[in-house]
Amino acid sequence: MDLFEYQAKELFVKHGVPSSEGRVTDSAEEARAIATEIGKPVMIKSQVKVGGRGKAGGVKYAATPDDAYEHAKNILGLDIKGHITKKILVAEAKDIAAEYYISFLLDRSNRTYMAMCSVEGGMEIEEVAVQKPEMLAKIPVDAVKGVDLAFARSIAEQGHLPADILDAAAVTIQKLWETFIGEDATLVEVNPLVRTPDNEILALDGKVTLDENAEFRHPQHLEFADIDATDPLELKAKEHDLNYVKLDGEVGIIGNGAGLVMSTLDVVAYAGENHGGVKPANFLDIGGGASATVMANGLNVILGDAQVKSVFVNVFGGITSCDAVANGIVKALEILGDGATKPLVVRLDGNNVELGRKILADANHPLVTIAQTMDEGADKAAELAAAK
Ligand code: GDP
Ligand code: MN
Repeated sequence: MDLFEYQAKELFVKHGVPSSEGRVTDSAEEARAIATEIGKPVMIKSQVKVGGRGKAGGVKYAATPDDAYEHAKNILGLDIKGHITKKILVAEAKDIAAEYYISFLLDRSNRTYMAMCSVEGGMEIEEVAVQKPEMLAKIPVDAVKGVDLAFARSIAEQGHLPADILDAAAVTIQKLWETFIGEDATLVEVNPLVRTPDNEILALDGKVTLDENAEFRHPQHLEFADIDATDPLELKAKEHDLNYVKLDGEVGIIGNGAGLVMSTLDVVAYAGENHGGVKPANFLDIGGGASATVMANGLNVILGDAQVKSVFVNVFGGITSCDAVANGIVKALEILGDGATKPLVVRLDGNNVELGRKILADANHPLVTIAQTMDEGADKAAELAAAK
């Protein structure tokens, strides 16, 4: 999950990373009030999850509260690379003597963490990487040893920060590492990391990506979720702990196991070519359990998608055998009652498949068609979707 700058800075404050005081708002009037409260010149900063806000006119200096109001009015609603500004950060404007760059990230190709540091901050770091690669230090970080003050100082030194500021930079850099590890982030990037005329080292921008797989360790991270930008069906699926991704086709898909669901998407997309180009409507992996409740929750999410015209349930019975899955489907249809409105094609295979098919055949639900193979099921589901 990518955070807004103001959220990244909340984490910085929590871990003692020096930054600038500020508050977020969605109103120009309030921006004026915040500026008055701060009592010094402020920066008005567009809060969108994309870089280069400054160049796009989304970061402005305001000497007075009235300037803050004017800039806020212009920046609210501003489109930056397709992202509309809904909120702005009003933060004390700091005096800048120099702008540096620092980041910690997960280096997947080398299976380690990495620090990147450069004296050439402020501008786009991609340009530095291309034009002056020797000015951008890339330093592997051992996950077990981490970053202590001495190592933080060495990172700053390798990034060619001036000698007289290395000790101060080390303190801020070490706290950024604590933020990275403590919050289970995959990226903490600060550009610019600023040197003030008083030789303070401040994080004036912040880009943080949190590892969603570690969410269970950080219940407080839920506050960062951008509910407005999340698909309502995906939210509903998340409440039920379902692995669901909305796509834009017409054939709803339920399967058990990510691999099987992914191949089902392929097979349905292929079958759809013979039926007017219908496509899969979603990815939904109900996992190993496939109980009636899980099946009902899954069906419920998929049937809530107005674009869905048919559903293909493709389950391979393993530890949970086909009879249990069949019973789950029958019970799920009972639970849903009139809520089940779209035709279902079910393909079962694996453990206890004969009994599973018999249970479905005996239930004889008007919406359910049994398919013998995955290809046949995909074709039938695509045909039903196209017929609607
Ligand atoms: P970005 O363009 O999206 O990366 O947004 P930044 O937060 O990095 O801001 C862009 C530029 O605005 C920075 O590189 C600074 O030059 C400038 N800036 C940001 N905050 C301040 C501040 O507090 N004081 C001053 N003087 N300039 C700032
Ligand atoms: Mn920046």
